Amino acid sequence: MLKLENLSFDNSYVKLPDVFWERVKPTPFPNPYVVSVNPAAAELLNLDPGEFARPDFAEYFCGAKLLPGSDPIAMLYSGHQFGHYNPQLGDGRAIMLGEVKNEQGEPWELQLKGAGITRFSRDGDGRAVLRSTIREYLCGEAMHGLGIPTTRSLCIVAGEEVVWRERPEPGAMLLRMAPSHVRFGSFEVFHYRRQYEHLKLLADYVIDHHYLHVREAENPYARLLHEVAIRTGHMVAQWQAVGWAHGVLNTDNMSILGLTMDYGPFGFLERYDPTFICNHSDHQGRYSFQHQPDIGYWNIRALGQALSHLIDDEDALKMAPQVYEQAMLESYAELMRGKLGFTESHAGDDKLVTDLLNLMDSSRTDYTTFFRDLGNFQLEEPSSNSAIRDFFLHREAFDDWTTRYRERLIAEKSQDAERKVRMDQVNPKYVLRNHVAERAIQLATREKDYSEIDRLLELLSHPFTDQPGMEAYALPAPDDSPPIIVSCSS
Ligand code: AMP
Ligand code: MG
Repeated sequence: MLKLENLSFDNSYVKLPDVFWERVKPTPFPNPYVVSVNPAAAELLNLDPGEFARPDFAEYFCGAKLLPGSDPIAMLYSGHQFGHYNPQLGDGRAIMLGEVKNEQGEPWELQLKGAGITRFSRDGDGRAVLRSTIREYLCGEAMHGLGIPTTRSLCIVAGEEVVWRERPEPGAMLLRMAPSHVRFGSFEVFHYRRQYEHLKLLADYVIDHHYLHVREAENPYARLLHEVAIRTGHMVAQWQAVGWAHGVLNTDNMSILGLTMDYGPFGFLERYDPTFICNHSDHQGRYSFQHQPDIGYWNIRALGQALSHLIDDEDALKMAPQVYEQAMLESYAELMRGKLGFTESHAGDDKLVTDLLNLMDSSRTDYTTFFRDLGNFQLEEPSSNSAIRDFFLHREAFDDWTTRYRERLIAEKSQDAERKVRMDQVNPKYVLRNHVAERAIQLATREKDYSEIDRLLELLSHPFTDQPGMEAYALPAPDDSPPIIVSCSS
């Protein structure tokens, strides 16, 4: 277990030419203090948990002190925002402190979000509000708990810093980690600037550090695109299966590693509604829940375009979005079979899923609790299924569906008890519902009480396990709860 000073920095990205980044130091807050630390992420760095109590821990993670070996940079990228190309984005408020290699040799980039102005800040203040850092901190870990690839969260540090949004709010910094924060937009910037040598350098960097096996392929760049398409397909399928919307699927928020990243106005579905838009500023619903699979396709096409100078195989470029789509659809079908408790694939399964979702849509059934409770479905004693039936307004229509479901389960000789165990491992009991996050945010911002954040971190790290005394966290928002408005760049 390591002391902070003994983290081993590699900083491979800084070895790329200096157009790729700007060397910039974080701008610290006065009187920083730790809001929350996540031991699970610290373990990935082999960091001794005893270090969390150090008086200077907060100083290191608000930029007041630099860890030995750290060489902070802001990364350049561009991207398509809501379908339109923006030539100049880059880390406007996140500063990468450096890349740590852990004892297993795994690279972890440490990125401090809200760390102050960089060359890429445009009109922004380089800051993040406590509210948005809590949301990102918790959701990153919630997604990891759900088995969905994501950036991880190490800690939140606050201080005496007021950040102006619609009103003054406490500011904070989030230390997030990923093997790489390279985005589709990191490639797009060099493609649209016609800086093809840089484009190649970046592709080689990503291959050498994260996709080494594609070197064997006839065209490693085409293979890279192919693999990113597959990873992205699996990630989007997982979002759809768990009922989660990202909210801002611009190409600059798409990870080259297929990680969920840049958490902003995200939301878990409560009552099932495919048209769910979690981003208050997304008036057209471009990034609504049901559009995510198509947006993944669009974004893979944009990545293909960005790599086109390196890939002379027209077919590979044309095929990439289809490779994505096939991976996404197959993965989604498999995940939904699991959610229904099927171990086999039968003809008609897709229709069973679609019909169920249509019923859930018309009854506005709570997505997470329904699937969790479906695990209690009884083949032996159909009369005991009334609690599940109560999720639906159109009971007869649900009864018809249940008849088909029952036949389908019998066809694979499903056993109630064994199936429930399996279903509980894939249908989470706890997700980060907006009103649950909001309570932690209110306590933190109004009362400087951060205990709820730690409680949620623990709860959401084990979303499939019934946790005594935590029933309330599994419940949908009360009908009279006020709407929670979230948009980009808070
Ligand atoms: P996002 O919507 O958070 O993915 O951010 C889109 C772009 O805006 C990125 O280049 C961010 O770095 C930048 N950005 C967002 N908020 C701020 C801010 N408060 N200060 C500076 N840049 C920002
Ligand atoms: Mg972003």
